[in-house]
Amino acid sequence: MKLAYSDEDRAFQKEIRLFFAQELSPEIATKEERQGHLRRIDYADWQRKLAERGWAAPNWPKEYGGTGWSPVQRHIWEVEYGRACAPEISVIAIGLVGPVICRFGSEDQKARYLDPMLRGDIFFCQGFSEPQAGSDLANVGTRAVRDGDDYVISGQKIWTSHAPDADYMVCLCRTNMDVKPQAGLSMLIVPMDAPGLTVRPIETIDDAPSVSEVFLDEVRVPASELIGEEDKAWTYAKFLLNTERTHNAYIGILRRYVDRLKRAADRTIGYRRKLAMLEIDVDALEWSVLRVLDAAEGPGTAASASALKVSASELLLRAGELEMEQLGLAALPVTPHGENIASYDGFRSQFMYWRAASIFGGANEIQRSIIWGSLS
Ligand SMILES: Cc1cc2nc3c(=O)[nH]c(=O)nc-3n(C[C@H](O)[C@H](O)[C@H](O)COP(=O)(O)OP(=O)(O)OC[C@H]3O[C@@H](n4cnc5c(N)ncnc54)[C@H](O)[C@@H]3O)c2cc1C
Repeated sequence: MKLAYSDEDRAFQKEIRLFFAQELSPEIATKEERQGHLRRIDYADWQRKLAERGWAAPNWPKEYGGTGWSPVQRHIWEVEYGRACAPEISVIAIGLVGPVICRFGSEDQKARYLDPMLRGDIFFCQGFSEPQAGSDLANVGTRAVRDGDDYVISGQKIWTSHAPDADYMVCLCRTNMDVKPQAGLSMLIVPMDAPGLTVRPIETIDDAPSVSEVFLDEVRVPASELIGEEDKAWTYAKFLLNTERTHNAYIGILRRYVDRLKRAADRTIGYRRKLAMLEIDVDALEWSVLRVLDAAEGPGTAASASALKVSASELLLRAGELEMEQLGLAALPVTPHGENIASYDGFRSQFMYWRAASIFGGANEIQRSIIWGSLS
């Protein structure tokens, strides 16, 4: 593996920077950097621009609208993307569900979903976790029962990101009670406006509409919405989760944090030492990501994806803590006396949100078990 960009890579980097400079609206970039938690309406226009350029889904196979970029080019893209403060487009559809449909979906599903996903015309959410099934996903209890040409789904999902903005949910359901838990799961695409489906947003510490509960009460979907084969979803879910963990290396966002912290006013030795240590660790993570991307076409092995996820989430925590230390009281939306602070610009809310990075995509303790399992 080469450790330096080639002339071709540098030309590619320049082309991307030019594209961001010309096409990314400064208002959206500022909103993304200062507030985070953008809604669908904020990034629909940006996603259309990416789709027109053919750059909406670098992680998809080329035949379905991917870019065909090399691992290094994909990496350059991610870093430049984060640094430019481009909004993270339809992350569940493009980042997670799209690759699953490309790999395991029917021809009919590919025809109906992939192009609209690329253009940002349809958005997805991911209905895996339940009150009794988070780390232990095999415990999923939401039932899907075959009834003629339909499945009838009943149960509850929780922590579903982007649910109010989504048109569809990819839903992990139990279709067989008579086999071991992993062998009885299926994946269905459920329209969010289906009768019997209710979304209830959860109030969270980051003051943003980030996660919801989704209730399914005898929701009927055609059997043509089954992804792959009945009872085989454990394989598809593992593929999706590995994709999610590799995706969750967040190098671009970490670089953005480091850039911002370097611009900050605090120049005490203690602060600079912590910042330097953070930057070195981000560099190390970046090389690990490149190694994983270089090692295999696709999401990489489960253990390396888990290792990236653990490192990235811990660095995000450290970066956020450093920013809070630097901002001090200015990080609060209100003074201790309850008055609004004029300079408040949402960094605290982002800090609170990123604390969840050690939980979502599978808690870090679970990732460590996966790593350990691969060694023993
Ligand atoms: C902001 C956010 C967004 C999310 N978005 C989505 C989404 O879009 N779709 C979705 O399906 N889910 C989503 N989740 C859910 C997320 O995947 C789960 O929260 C996560 O898998 C942990 O499950 P849990 O919350 O049930 O915790 P639990 O599984 O109950 O775990 C609680 C604690 O026990 C530890 N633990 C559990 N089992 C073990 C073990 N075997 N060994 C060691 N430690 C263990 C865990 O590490 C954790 O610290 C999101 C979560 C958050 C916070």
